[in-house]
Amino acid sequence: MDREKLLEFIDKNRVRFLRLQFTDINGTMKNVEIPSDEVEGLLDSGIMFDGSSVQGFARIHESDMYLKPDLRTVAMLPWTFDGHRSARIICDVYEDPSTPFDGDPRYRLKLIQEKARSMGFIPYAGPEVEFFILPRKEGKPVFEFLDSGSYFDLLPVDIAEHIRTEVSVYLEEMGLDVETTHHEVAPSQHEVDFRYAEPVIAADNVQTVKLVIKTLAIRNNLFATFMPKPFFGVNGSGMHVHMSLFTLDGRNAFYDPDAPDGISQTMRYFIGGLIAHAREITAITNPTVNSYKRLVPGYEAPVNIAWSKGNRTALIRVPKARGNATRLEYRAPDPSCNPYLALAVMFAAGLDGIEKRIEPPLPVEENIYKMSDAEKQKRGISRLPANLKEALTEAEKSELVKSVLGEHIFEKFMALKEREWWEYSTHISEWERIKYENI
Ligand code: GLN
Ligand code: MG
Ligand code: MG
Ligand code: MG
Repeated sequence: MDREKLLEFIDKNRVRFLRLQFTDINGTMKNVEIPSDEVEGLLDSGIMFDGSSVQGFARIHESDMYLKPDLRTVAMLPWTFDGHRSARIICDVYEDPSTPFDGDPRYRLKLIQEKARSMGFIPYAGPEVEFFILPRKEGKPVFEFLDSGSYFDLLPVDIAEHIRTEVSVYLEEMGLDVETTHHEVAPSQHEVDFRYAEPVIAADNVQTVKLVIKTLAIRNNLFATFMPKPFFGVNGSGMHVHMSLFTLDGRNAFYDPDAPDGISQTMRYFIGGLIAHAREITAITNPTVNSYKRLVPGYEAPVNIAWSKGNRTALIRVPKARGNATRLEYRAPDPSCNPYLALAVMFAAGLDGIEKRIEPPLPVEENIYKMSDAEKQKRGISRLPANLKEALTEAEKSELVKSVLGEHIFEKFMALKEREWWEYSTHISEWERIKYENI
């Protein structure tokens, strides 16, 4: 869409307000609204805002920032405010009208996308978003199951079914290509999958999906949570990401028809890079205290650093599809991550494998949850960090994470997360009181 087309779009759809969206370093979507008659100013120089109030953005002394609209992302919001129609536009954050802000997560991901292109590749990402829909009582979220559904179940067990359908309808209206929605393994757990796209657009889509799901849940007097492990004893919510690279002339660079398993050397190196950097990027793909309660054996979430051609206990799975659909699935991320930063470190890790020609270890087809420590050691299978603190220690040492995030985000992210860990580790929980009350 260009300037002309946007003006036409506003006119044709009777758009009253434009919601300018961007994402802070925590992955939280922010927005500022302007009446649609301010659109000329937006297109000329961007909209100025106070960056010092946004989590992880500007230093106080240089707080004026600009939002510059990415016109590829214009979409009507499928809901109205008192009948007034709004459109959203996802924006890039600028320091002044011509300098991108180093600390904008979307910009960090753009840089990796450009790096891939400079290596002769177009990267693609297909995230799968899992989440729980739970009840509210007297307006407050309640952590109780709404249904006793399981994988692919439908009514009458799955009472949130109509919300999933509404989610699909809204997303399609906003221009997303939804591939599947289904009930997931745990009670009250669901998944939305949409068509793969270049990473920046894929991350935009994750943000859109989360916004639509939360909005529809609230409108149905329910609540949607993307926390990775809301309940002990059942599956948590992951955000698996399907990843592939295409050549600039449109061939899937992960596919080699002459290799016995169809997996190209490029893909092997990419897997090698992901495995080599897995521990250091986990703080970004799994950035909350709660993330690590999902990464335990027994719930289809990865614990060990291995790859496989079918096995869902491995960190990286290569689905059966070949030809243009050849891809890998990186299974660590969860929906509490900032999708821009997570995709940035994941693609950077894979590309580094290609640059450095990192051979992956042998694939592992057995159930790794059941493998003894001695066996794992013999086969060189290490494990993902066990908690946020361990993950932060790995990230702190990582040149890759530092350069992908850039100094600004790296420092703010580390400080924010160290603080979160401190809050958690000094908090006295119910569990402790019950466990230790009689000591
Ligand atoms: N919920 C599982 C996870 O935490 C994945 C289940 C699935 O998609 N097969 O990653
Ligand atoms: Mg899926
Ligand atoms: Mg799933
Ligand atoms: Mg999956």
